[in-house]
Parts: sequence; C-alpha cells; structure tokens
Amino acid sequence: MSKLPQIGTSIFTVMSKMANEHNAINLSQGFPNFPVDERLTSIVARLATENVHQYTPMSGYPPLLNKIAKLILDSYKRVVQPETEILVTAGATQGIFTTIQALIKANEEVIILDPSYDCYEAPVLLCNAHAIRVPLNDDYTPNWEIIEKACSIKTRMIIINNPHNPTGKILAEADFIKLEKILEKYPDLLVLSDEVYEYITFEEKHISAHTRQELLNRCIMISSFGKSFHITGWKIGYVVAPEHLMIEIKKVHQFLVFSVNSISQVAISEYLDIVDVTKLGKFYQEKRDYFKKLLEKSRFELKPCEGTYFQVASYKSISDEDDVTFCKRLITEYGVAAIPISTFYANGKDLKLIRFCFAKDNATLEAAAERLCNI
Ligand code: PMP
Ligand code: GLN
Repeated sequence: MSKLPQIGTSIFTVMSKMANEHNAINLSQGFPNFPVDERLTSIVARLATENVHQYTPMSGYPPLLNKIAKLILDSYKRVVQPETEILVTAGATQGIFTTIQALIKANEEVIILDPSYDCYEAPVLLCNAHAIRVPLNDDYTPNWEIIEKACSIKTRMIIINNPHNPTGKILAEADFIKLEKILEKYPDLLVLSDEVYEYITFEEKHISAHTRQELLNRCIMISSFGKSFHITGWKIGYVVAPEHLMIEIKKVHQFLVFSVNSISQVAISEYLDIVDVTKLGKFYQEKRDYFKKLLEKSRFELKPCEGTYFQVASYKSISDEDDVTFCKRLITEYGVAAIPISTFYANGKDLKLIRFCFAKDNATLEAAAERLCNI
C-alpha cells in the first residue's frame, strides 16, 4: 500500500526526460544552461586539493552561516543570529521538507496557494496532515478573503512562494498587510515563505518576509543558492527561522542529512565575498525581454512576468488541446519542451497555459523561438 497514492513522478522529471528522448530544446525544467561564474569554479578547483572534505557542523559551515547572516543584513537590513537562526540545507527542497516534518502534526492543516510549486504537498501528507489548496485570483494575486475563510484553529501553516513559480508574480505590500491581519487572529499560525527567486525580480522590488516585523517570530524563510548562482545541481540552500522553531527543524535535519556537502559550503562562503547578487535581476530581465521580443511574431500570448526565470504563455489561439497533450506534441512535433500549468493545480485546472524557462543562453532562446514562431 502506497503512503502517497496521489503523488506521481514530478512533471519536471517527466518533461526533461521526454525532451532528452526527442532531442528537444528543453525550456521545461527550470535550470540555467550558461556557464557558472569562473570565479566560483576556480574556488572549487582549488578547494578540491585542500582539507575541506569532512563533515561540517550539523547546521552548516560556520563561516557560511556568518556570510548568510551578512547577506540578509545587506539585502534586507535584518539581523539574524547565525548559530541559532540559520540552517544550511541540501537545496530549498530539503529545507521545505524538513521544516514541514518538524513543525506540522497529524490532522493539522496547511494552506497551499494554487497554482503551486510541486514540493509542498507530499511532506504535509507524510505528516498525516491536510493540504488545503486555495486558488489564487485570475491575476495570480492571493485572494485573502478566501484564504481567511479557509483558516481555522486547525490551520498551522500558510505557504507563500514569492516570487512565484510558475507565474512570476510577486507579492505587494498590501498582500503582507492582509496576511498579517489574518495572523493576528491565529497566534499559532506559521508562515513558510519560499523565496528561492528572491534576487530575480524586475520592475518591482521584491518584498521579503525578512522585512516584515510582524512575521519574524513565526516565519520560516527558505532560499536556494541554486537559483542565485546558476548552480541548481549543487542542491544547496538555507532556512532562516526564529530560534524556538529552528530547534525543532534541526532535530529533523540532523537525522535526514546531518550536514550538507562540505566543499560546496566552503566554496559558497568564499564566493559570497565577491559576488553581487543585486545584479541578478537585471541579468534575467534582459533574458525575459529578449525572449519576449523573439516570440513577438508567434501565436503565443505571453503573460506578465514580474520575477523568476519563467514565462507563462497562452496557446489558446493555436490549439484547444489540454495543456499536457499540447506540451507533449510541442516536444514531439516542434522540438521544444515546456511545462503544462495544469500540473500546478490540485484539480488539474486546464487554462491552456504553459511555462517556458528563459534561463538559457541567447542561442538556445533564439533556436527555441524560431521553432515556436513556426507553430
Ligand atoms: N521552491 C521553488 C519555488 C522552486 O522553483 C524550486 C526549484 N527550483 C525549489 C523550491 C527547490 O529548490 P532547490 O533546487 O534548491 O531544492
Ligand atoms: N524548480 C524547478 C522548476 O520549477 C524544478 C526543480 C526540479 O526538477 N525538482 O522547474
């Protein structure tokens, strides 16, 4: 008997596998295809011959914890205690899983806003808790009235993802004010803020949960170096939480992984001294705009994208197939892979929308756009 009968293979695995099998240009799973900063790769090459190959302390390599605290101070003017409030994890995915396992009890409820990234529900179900899927508005802003109606004393956590995968939407200050109003009514309600794309926003500035005074004592913040440094395969990220929650999170972490890959922790701690994360937004904004321009003559209608490296597009004027069928045909007939947006909804809502990843070099974007313009 399956413990997770409703969970299948992740759509990112399915689509990337199919893209490889058909030799398609892979704009489905979100990963960059341009080279990693040479300054980072040369740090790794040097470290390979140094004495950095044994366990780090359980919560992370101490200099890295200090650098993360400095990054948060520089980015958001928030003072975080490295030893007690930061945990280095094997990617954001492990941070999210560990947090949910540590803090959610059987029969409690966790609110997940649809469309939602795929790694939130399974850890909730494994706690024998309930994932309450609440739809975002049509423009992908949260519907705080519906969210409030979904809250009760059983609700233990709301998960927000800002900037948002797959839609590229970012939260406004008004959203935080409404969220904080709801939290006032429920003193035990926690917020898990998945901000893995925190440095990838465009015209509007990212508002981090780190900057919201009312949230700090009950918010668990998740980030990933995979997105910020173009190294998704390194699987390294971190969790920031107030000490009373972090004590519980570390109890699970120590038996899930104990500590994270040492060489990547040392390398990132050195790299943080020289890298400028504030440049990332402009870098991806240019990619977004270039991809948009390349698709101007196509029959895809591109939706607004305020952050992340994903572009949602409607194919309504091309086909009335459901989005999964359309994405499969896009691979087999046109040689481009994308992600069907219906897979981000609990009820599989088909809006004829697909997601392209534009974290690609210009040659790849051009080749993909040429194919997409011929549909
Ligand atoms: N959250 C979101 C919204 C994501 O898009 C991703 C994957 N890119 C993750 C979490 C997982 O990040 P990681 O690869 O660091 O585990
Ligand atoms: N976050 C990536 C995406 O949205 C996928 C990561 C994964 O494959 N698990 O495409």
